[in-house]
Amino acid sequence: MTAKIIDGKTLAVKFLDSVRKNVNEAKEKPGLAIVLVGNNPASEIYVGAKEKTCNSVGVNCERYNLDEKVSQNELLKLVDELNQNKKIHGFIVQLPLPKHIDQNFVIDSILPHKDVDGFTPVNLGNLVNDDNRLLPATARACMELIKSTGVNIKGKNAVVVGRSNIVGKPTALLLLQENATVTVCHSKTKNLKEYTKNADILVVAVGKAKLIKKDMVKPGAIVIDVGINRVMGKIVGDVDFENVKEVAGFITPVPGGVGPMTIAMLLDNTLKAMELGKGVGF
Ligand code: NAD
Repeated sequence: MTAKIIDGKTLAVKFLDSVRKNVNEAKEKPGLAIVLVGNNPASEIYVGAKEKTCNSVGVNCERYNLDEKVSQNELLKLVDELNQNKKIHGFIVQLPLPKHIDQNFVIDSILPHKDVDGFTPVNLGNLVNDDNRLLPATARACMELIKSTGVNIKGKNAVVVGRSNIVGKPTALLLLQENATVTVCHSKTKNLKEYTKNADILVVAVGKAKLIKKDMVKPGAIVIDVGINRVMGKIVGDVDFENVKEVAGFITPVPGGVGPMTIAMLLDNTLKAMELGKGVGF
């Protein structure tokens, strides 16, 4: 069997067309701000891609570059300004932040209705309550990619490898909302293969190239590869794509899978934030 490739680029174009249409119909232009601290090369690439996509759909994107050594107070001052800025409907502080800054404290300072990354305790708490006002973009992307296969999620065994607050945990909660039976594996899981082998739906968000091998995947499974790893100048995922595609039923490529969909979901969240900012819901 050769897996069907889940084409994240094409699916993202579909979502972005809908975002563009909504932007054109909106009375005001949606505004997204991106705060980048330091010059982490990977973050520079992600932020560049986000800016480019904003321009392509008519979302006004403002980028704030802060020095690596910026103090936490200066960063919090900018967060506060963006919280108050009426032209900015949503904003993100690109992670990771330098070690001297308390990441959780900064995220917690973002007003929940402007939190288009869905990382604040309020939005993560909402998710636990099955309230999907603003969801983490990558978790949303994973769900849309899974749903695009047409496979019914209800009752399926879903395994999420990785338990970060920004990908693994929210994705596990969204799968639970869809009535999958969910297992979360992580760095301390013993015999990872025992779990992954039973997964009808396997989401991998670790950051280790080729962690998931062919013999770890159930024949016919849906495999969603979130990982981004640089190996000898090339971007690869966490799944040994060439071999796993021989057993999986559906698989996302890297690049061209979760990445483009994550950006599409971020922009869709920005439109949602514009509505929420009108006083609905928060
Ligand atoms: P993270 O470092 O915060 O979390 C990694 C998780 O992997 C941890 O929960 C850890 O317990 C688990 N882990 C580590 N080694 C393991 C092992 N050997 N077996 C099982 N689990 C193991 O990372 P993150 O922010 O969740 O990101 C994960 C990956 O996804 C990274 O490669 C990141 O670049 C990528 N990512 C991609 C997108 C996208 O849009 N495509 C978005 C966010 C993150």
